[in-house]
Amino acid sequence: MQLIFLGPPGAGKGTMATRVAEDHDIPHISTGDIFRYNINNQTELGLQVKSILDSGELVPDDLTIDLVRDRLSQEDCANGFILDGFPRTIAQAEALQSFSNILCVLNFSIPDEIIVKRLSGRRVHKTSGRTYHVLHNPPKVPGKDDVTGEELIVRSDDQVDSIRKRLAVYYEQTAPLKEFYRNKGMLHEIDATPSPEEVYESMKKILKDA
Ligand code: ADP
Ligand code: ADP
Repeated sequence: MQLIFLGPPGAGKGTMATRVAEDHDIPHISTGDIFRYNINNQTELGLQVKSILDSGELVPDDLTIDLVRDRLSQEDCANGFILDGFPRTIAQAEALQSFSNILCVLNFSIPDEIIVKRLSGRRVHKTSGRTYHVLHNPPKVPGKDDVTGEELIVRSDDQVDSIRKRLAVYYEQTAPLKEFYRNKGMLHEIDATPSPEEVYESMKKILKDA
């Protein structure tokens, strides 16, 4: 099972990918998580991309493509994987075609005003990437990670200015991927607006028939 989760920031791709990855015992590969891991650990890659992530722009294609090509060649991807947040440009999608044979792309669609509410209420556990929402998916103890009890943070790119920038980047560079995959007969639409449970159920139906 090789899947792409496509959609704007805040659509719920990461939340759903975590569940599907567990169900099918396949890795959930989020390019955003990989970049943030490198930023937190101050690696060379992290230092290179920190200001880009903070600004809401995209990391250059060549760097991102090499990273994903390398990740997909690892052993744990042999039985499948979920790509969350990649590809984000036509150049990335074309490169991906050359090193994988993905057939199923799930597009999470959701109006902008809901996106802004989801992103501004998002809280994350920095080291694991576990994601919560202050209203829709609150932690057991406010402000604390359920597993470790550590403090949750607001991602630096979940500030209002950065959110607007990321949405603009999404419409300009990533939304055209819908047409790219629709033309190849690979695109499945998901209404990402309802509750997490309802989105999960409609996703399971699509994956069963895919
Ligand atoms: P993405 O990976 O697409 O950027 P996330 O999975 O991080 O999105 O979700 C963004 C925010 O919205 C998080 O705070 C998450 O808890 C919350 N969220 C995810 N799915 C839903 C949903 N179906 N309804 C309400 N809130 C949701
Ligand atoms: P969200 O799901 O909230 O949009 P992500 O965690 O997927 O956020 O991505 C955070 C940031 O990481 C992006 O705004 C961008 O700077 C960078 N990034 C992630 N994936 C890619 C990609 N495929 N190409 C370029 N930049 C990326």
